[in-house]
Amino acid sequence: MVKICCIGAGYVGGPTMAVIAVKCPSIEVVVVDISTQRITAWNSDQLPIYEPGLDDVVKQCRGKNLFFSTDVEQHVSEADIVFVSVNTPTKTQGLGAGKAADLTYWESAARMIADVSKSNKIVVEKSTVPVKTAEAIEKILTHNSKGISFQILSNPEFLAEGTAIDDLFHPDRVLIGGRETPEGEKAVKALKDVYAHWVPEERIICTNLWSAELSKLAANAFLAQRISSVNAMSALCEATGADVSQVAHAIGKDTRIGSKFLNASVGFGGSCFQKDILNLVYICTCNGLPEVANYWKQVIKINDYQKTRFVNRVVSSMFNTVSGKKIAILGFAFKKDTGDTRETPAIDVCKGLLGDKAQLSIYDPQVSEEQIQRDLSMKKFDWDHPIHLQPMSPTAIKQVRVVWDAYEATKDAHAICILTEWDEFKSLDYQKIYENMQKPAFLFDGRNVVDAEKLRQIGFIVYSIGKPLDA
Ligand code: NAD
Repeated sequence: MVKICCIGAGYVGGPTMAVIAVKCPSIEVVVVDISTQRITAWNSDQLPIYEPGLDDVVKQCRGKNLFFSTDVEQHVSEADIVFVSVNTPTKTQGLGAGKAADLTYWESAARMIADVSKSNKIVVEKSTVPVKTAEAIEKILTHNSKGISFQILSNPEFLAEGTAIDDLFHPDRVLIGGRETPEGEKAVKALKDVYAHWVPEERIICTNLWSAELSKLAANAFLAQRISSVNAMSALCEATGADVSQVAHAIGKDTRIGSKFLNASVGFGGSCFQKDILNLVYICTCNGLPEVANYWKQVIKINDYQKTRFVNRVVSSMFNTVSGKKIAILGFAFKKDTGDTRETPAIDVCKGLLGDKAQLSIYDPQVSEEQIQRDLSMKKFDWDHPIHLQPMSPTAIKQVRVVWDAYEATKDAHAICILTEWDEFKSLDYQKIYENMQKPAFLFDGRNVVDAEKLRQIGFIVYSIGKPLDA
C-alpha cells in the first residue's frame, strides 16, 4: 500500500488529502500538523475550516485510509510520498521584508524530513513557493540525507476556498513539475498515478520544476490582475455614468477575454493573491527586472485604492462624517462560503470607518466574534513601507459589536455596508430592515449583490460599486 503523508493540515492540506483519500482507497493518507488544536478539530465533528462538501468527504474515509495526527516525525518517516503544505507567508522582517516569502516553516519541515527518513522519498511542494525553491530544498535534503535519495516535485494547488471540494474533484488541471532525469521522471509518474485515479490524463500537465513553481505565482497574479482591472474600470464607471456590470458583460462576451472573474467589488482578499504577487515583485526585483516588478505592484495598489475609495464613499455620502453613527457590516469573510478572514477587505474597510469614529455592528454567518476582534486589533503590515502600523486602540475596539443576525446588525443603523457576497444577503427582508433603520438609510453594496432599484423604491439611498450613483 502506497503511503502518503502531508505536512500541514490547513486550508490546502486538509481538503486535498481528504479528496486523495476518498478517490484512492488503496492509498493510506496521513495529514500531520504541529498544531494540536487543528488536529483535534480534524478528528472531531467540528472541522477546523468551513468548506462546502468537506464534512461528507472527511466522514467517508476518516479512520479508514485518512488519518490526522500530531505525530509528525513518525508518519513522515513511514511515507513514500511526503506533501508539504505548510504556510508560506510574506516575510515581515529582514531581507525582503514586506515582499519575499517567509520559508521558515518550509525549511524546518525539510530539515525534519531529512532527519527522520530512513528510506527514499518523493517530496512534493504543495505550498506556493518562490520559483527555484526546489533547488534550496534539494540542498537541505541531500546535504542531510545519510545516503537516502529524495526526489522533489512541484505540485502547486489551484483550489479556491469556498469551492475547494468541487475544484479538487474536477480540477481544470493538475500541474506536476519535476527534474528531467530518469529518477525525476519516475517520481513524476508516481504522483501522476495518484491523480490518475480520478483526473483525466489530458488534465495532468507535466513541466520542469521551475515552470510549475512559477505557474502558480503567475496564475494568482493573472487572477488578481483581472479583479484590479475591473475595479479600476468601476472607478471610471462611477465618474462617467457607465455601469461596470454592463461593461463587464460586454467585454466578457469576447471569447479572448471571457466572462469569469469580472465582478467589480470592494477588493480582493484571502491569504494568497497579495502575498503571491508581492513574492513575484520580489523575484522580479532580485532578477534585475524593476519594470516588471512595478507592473505587478500596480495590481495591489489598485486593490488598496478600491478599499480606500469605498470607505471615502461611505463617509462622504453620509454628510462627511460617520462619527457616532451605527454602521451595519454584512459579511466579514474574504468571500462567500468560507470563514477565512485572512487579508479580507473587510479589515481595512472596518478600520477606515472606525478611524472616523463609526460604531460598527458586524454580522457574518461563518466568522466568530473572537476572530473579528482579533483581526481588527492586529497590527497591520504595510507592504509598501515595511513597518508595523499601530494596532487599533482598545477604545476603537469598543466601537465594534459582533452579532449573529443581519436584522440585529441593521437595527437602528444609519447605513449598511455589504462586504461579502453571501447568498443570504440577496434575500433579506429589506423592507423590514429599512423600517428599523435611521433615516436617511444608506446601503453601500461592496459586492453588487442586492437589487439596487428595488431598494431605492423602498427608500434606501444605494451605492453600488461601479454603478450610476443616486441623485
Ligand atoms: P494554513 O496556515 O491554513 O495551514 C498551514 C499549516 O501548516 C498550519 O496548520 C501549520 O500549523 C502547519 N505547519 C507549519 N509548519 C509546520 C511543520 N513544520 N510541521 C507540521 N505542520 C506545520 O495554510 P494554507 O491556507 O493551507 O496554505 C498552505 C500553502 O498553500 C501556502 O503556501 C499557500 O500559499 C498555499 N495555497 C493556499 C490556498 C488557499 O486557498 N488557502 C490555495 C492554494 C495554495
